[in-house]
Amino acid sequence: MGGLGSGNNNRWANKTDAFHKLDLSTFKREWFARYRSGAMTWSRGGHKIASINYHLSPQSMRLTYVSGSGDNKQSIDERFDLAFTPQHFGGLRWWIICKSCQRRCRVLYGAKLFRCRQCYELTYPSQYEFIRVPGLPIAETLKDKLGGEAGFAYPFPDKPKGMHWKTYQRYERVYYEAEERMEMALMGRFVSSN
Ligand SMILES: [Zn+2]
Repeated sequence: MGGLGSGNNNRWANKTDAFHKLDLSTFKREWFARYRSGAMTWSRGGHKIASINYHLSPQSMRLTYVSGSGDNKQSIDERFDLAFTPQHFGGLRWWIICKSCQRRCRVLYGAKLFRCRQCYELTYPSQYEFIRVPGLPIAETLKDKLGGEAGFAYPFPDKPKGMHWKTYQRYERVYYEAEERMEMALMGRFVSSN
């Protein structure tokens, strides 16, 4: 753990009153093959509020940063495994494996640690029961139809045998669009409740 996160540039600010979103799609695929490292920052109101360092490799994503300040300062160094599932035209969809629950996810939320939405309890039905998200019921129905697990914490199911890719991709698009709206609603709710 030592030797990481020194200097001002990668210190968490005190204002960790909202999660910092880390989306796998932020990284270009070739960055993983090239073992690229870099820094990611989050701003609010024009001020930098958090910064972390990332280190990519073909099989994993490592995050290093300093959490907290003063006596509570702590160096964090975590390596996340990646997973790959086939998609149309022979490509692979990439996933991050959450270190707490081992679920596949595309987005991690950072407080002290970066974890999936499920681990930060941003997915319990009671939390979105009263949030109106356009397209959500349709998206859940589609997922159910494909035999996927209910709830947005779980990945969209693989294409069933016999289903046309075109149909599958349409379902997938509808699902991810609804998921995106859901995410915005959840995040908005979280931020405003603080
Ligand atoms: Zn998790």
